[in-house]
Amino acid sequence: MNNTKSDEKIQKDENAAAIEKELNAERALKEEMKADRADGLRNEANSEAKVRIQDQSSKGVEASGTNKVKNKKVNKPQCMICKSNGSLIQIQSKWLCENCLHIGNEKLALPWKASLETLFKEYSEHCYRYISEDTEDVEPARVLGHKIRTALKFLGVSKNSEILLSIKRINRLFNNIHETDEFLNKTNQDGDEKNLYLAMAPFLSKKRKKQRKEISLKVPSILNEQYHHKVELFLERELVPYVVQLKKIDRLNEYEDRFNQLVQDYQQTVEEVEKTSEGAIKLLYSIQKKSKSLRDLYDFLNGTIGDHFENEEDYHKKILHQIHEINKVEIWISQLKINKHKIHAPKGDIKKVRKDLKERLENLIGNVEVSEVALSQN
Ligand SMILES: [Zn+2]
Repeated sequence: MNNTKSDEKIQKDENAAAIEKELNAERALKEEMKADRADGLRNEANSEAKVRIQDQSSKGVEASGTNKVKNKKVNKPQCMICKSNGSLIQIQSKWLCENCLHIGNEKLALPWKASLETLFKEYSEHCYRYISEDTEDVEPARVLGHKIRTALKFLGVSKNSEILLSIKRINRLFNNIHETDEFLNKTNQDGDEKNLYLAMAPFLSKKRKKQRKEISLKVPSILNEQYHHKVELFLERELVPYVVQLKKIDRLNEYEDRFNQLVQDYQQTVEEVEKTSEGAIKLLYSIQKKSKSLRDLYDFLNGTIGDHFENEEDYHKKILHQIHEINKVEIWISQLKINKHKIHAPKGDIKKVRKDLKERLENLIGNVEVSEVALSQN
């Protein structure tokens, strides 16, 4: 009893500390904005003064010392939207009041907020559905987790932020069971290897049960109250500055440049050595990783803020489809290797199947086609 109480207290203290940290960060941000604004106003005041001085000197010559200058009205800056003169912030040559700027920023971030909110919500739901064994399919939760991580990293959120680390931990668990699933699903298909797969299915099913149990234990402890609180804070308080500062096209170009660089490296490597060489395959997987992020990103941008990167999204989908086929065969080969001593089947059969699979793998790798991509829309 006492223990639970002190646990609760620790939890509360941790929560309070987290909130305190958030508030401090927010205060610091406000101070910074105030300082920026003060700078802006000071600059404006200086340049106004200069204009007045110039005015006086020229008028002085013209009107030879009359007091006309004193009556001249200097245009005071005002908010271009509501015309108020209070708390102005200069944006290029225009002025906005703090209030209008705030409203504008919130509006700018609104589609992002709505989409991310939905993604986070669906992600939790799918994770819990998977744990409650309503579904056998880990894919939806896995895909959603990847999509959230991609979108947040694109916005500039550190990959070491607690939200991203939590999702990463969960996705690692999901990836492991996904590999087992990929293999087990093969047993439902026909083919030369069917008997061998059937021989392996029982102990792989056992493994899957273990992996599910691990997920059932760990995922709820990761998606705890603190996690949900962090997500809420992020969406309510932290998201807007990220969206406001995002230079979308520049950032997309950065991503595509890195992708294209990998493609160039790959093409150069396969000219020098075979596509099936270790170096070429390693590059292919790097391309896959980048491509996955880009596919998720375009999917998110097309769906969220009405962008039209459909061609780019399709392009990356096609790349991923090719490499996914390779991944599948690789999983089968590695599972055969790991489990070869447990399989009750003639050694010759195992050898033959492995040989067949390796040939298939080489074929797939040999047929991969990747080319550079360019952004079609701005
Ligand atoms: Zn205004």
